Amino acid sequence: MKYISTRGAGGSVTFLEAALSGLAPDGGLYAPESLPVFGKEEIAGFRNMPYERLALKIFSPFAPDVPATELERIFKAAYSGFDGPETAPLVHLWDNQYILELYHGPTLAFKDFAMRPLGMLFDYALGRAGKKATIVAATSGDTGSAAIEAFKNCKNVNLFVLHPRGRVSEVQRRQMTTVRAANVKNIALEGSFDDCQNIVKALFADVKFRNAVNLSAVNSINWARIAAQTVYYFYAAARFNEGVTFCVPTGNFGNILAGFYAKKMGAGVEKLIIASNANDILTRFMQSGKMEQKTAVPTLSPSMDIQVSSNFERLLFEYTGRDSAAVLALMERFKKGSYEVKNEILKNIKFIFEAGACSDKETLAEISRVYKKTGRLVDPHTAVGLRAAFAHKGSEPVVTLSTAHPAKFADAVAKATGITPQLPPRLADIMTRKEEYAVLENSEERVKEFIYGNLH
Ligand SMILES: *Cc1c(COP(=O)(O)O)cnc(C)c1O
Repeated sequence: MKYISTRGAGGSVTFLEAALSGLAPDGGLYAPESLPVFGKEEIAGFRNMPYERLALKIFSPFAPDVPATELERIFKAAYSGFDGPETAPLVHLWDNQYILELYHGPTLAFKDFAMRPLGMLFDYALGRAGKKATIVAATSGDTGSAAIEAFKNCKNVNLFVLHPRGRVSEVQRRQMTTVRAANVKNIALEGSFDDCQNIVKALFADVKFRNAVNLSAVNSINWARIAAQTVYYFYAAARFNEGVTFCVPTGNFGNILAGFYAKKMGAGVEKLIIASNANDILTRFMQSGKMEQKTAVPTLSPSMDIQVSSNFERLLFEYTGRDSAAVLALMERFKKGSYEVKNEILKNIKFIFEAGACSDKETLAEISRVYKKTGRLVDPHTAVGLRAAFAHKGSEPVVTLSTAHPAKFADAVAKATGITPQLPPRLADIMTRKEEYAVLENSEERVKEFIYGNLH
C-alpha cells in the first residue's frame, strides 16, 4: 500500500513516510492508492471484538511497513489510557437516535483516538531511523492537548502548538498550557484558527525551514489519523443489523472523511451528515456547490470555528475521479477566496452527504432539550451534531458522534442546564495548575524565529 498526493506531484511514498511528513511536498494531502475492503461476514465478526483488536484489524492494511507486533503493541497501549470499561460506548437516546461517546480518552475529546497511536508510530519510526522531527500543530482547541498528551517526553520530537488567543475554552487552554515537558511549547497566536492553520501551511511551503527542522504535521490532514478514525465507524455500525447514518460535528472535515472512507471500505454506513455551527461554509457549499470563505466567528463550539476544512480536498480528489490537476486548480482558486464544483460532482456528493448548521442559541436549546429528555449532559459540539441529526429524515438508526466531554465546555453546559459538569478526578485541579505559553503576533516570521529559538 502506497500513498499519493491529491495534487499529483512527487510519486508515491510509504505509509510511514506519509505519516511522518503529514503534508505532501506539493502542498497536497496523501491518499492511499487503494482501499482495503472488508466483506459482510468479516464485518459481522467485528461485533464481538474489543476495540483495540478491531483497530489493529482495520488499520494494519494501511501500514504494511510497520511490523504487526509493533502495531499490536501500539493499539493496546493507545487505548489502555481511556476511562471506563468501553473505549467507545454507544448510547441510545430515544427512537432511532444514538450517540457514540468518543471522549473517554486522556484529553476528553475524540482526537485521542488517532493522536495516541500516531504519537507511538512517530516514536517507533524516528527511533528506528535515528532522526528527530519538529511538529507544528495548529489547534482550534482539542488537537493541541491531544498532541501534547501523545508527544510529551517523546525524545525525538519537538512539539509547537499554536492556538488562537482567547478563542479556546479555559479548560481547553489549561489542558495545553499546564503540561510541563521540555519538548513542548505553546503559542497563543493573535488571530483565528484559520490564521494558525495558514501559518503551519506557510512553514511547510518554506522548503529551507521545512528541511532545517524536519517539519511534520499531525493535524487531521495526517493520513494516519484518518485511518485510525475509520475504526469507530466500523465499531458502531457492527452493532446494528441495518445500515446506519452518522452525524458528525465538523470542522476540518477529518472525522467525517474517515466515515466516508469507512463506507468505501465496507462499513454499514448509509448517509453522513455534516453538522456545523455558525461557521456554515460546508452547509452553504452543499446548497450551492460553491465553497466560499467568510471570516470565522467565535462560537460556543470553538473546535469547529473553521472556514477552511482542509480535508475536504481529499473528498474532491475522490469525487473528481482522482483528478489531481482538477484538485490543484480548485485549491488555487480557493486561496483567492472561493471555488465552485460542477453540478455533477455536487449531485454525487449529495448521494451520501447531507448538511445542517445551527446558531449558539440553538446549540444551548439542544443541550437543554437532551438534558430534559434523558438527564444526560452533552457538550456544545455534540449538541450541534444532535440538532442536525434530529432534522434528518429517515427511519434508519442515526448515530451522532459525541466528540467532547461536557466538562470541557462547562460554561456553555451550565448556561443551558444550570448544572456544571464535573471533570474526571485526574483533571480536577486543572484550574489551579500553573500555565506557561508565549503570545505571538500573527506573523510567519515571528513563529519561525520562536521555533528556531526553542528547539530542544
Ligand atoms: C476537532 C473537533 C471537531 C471537528 O473535527 P474535524 O475532524 O476537524 O472535522 C469537532 N468536535 C470536537 C470536540 C473537536 O475537538
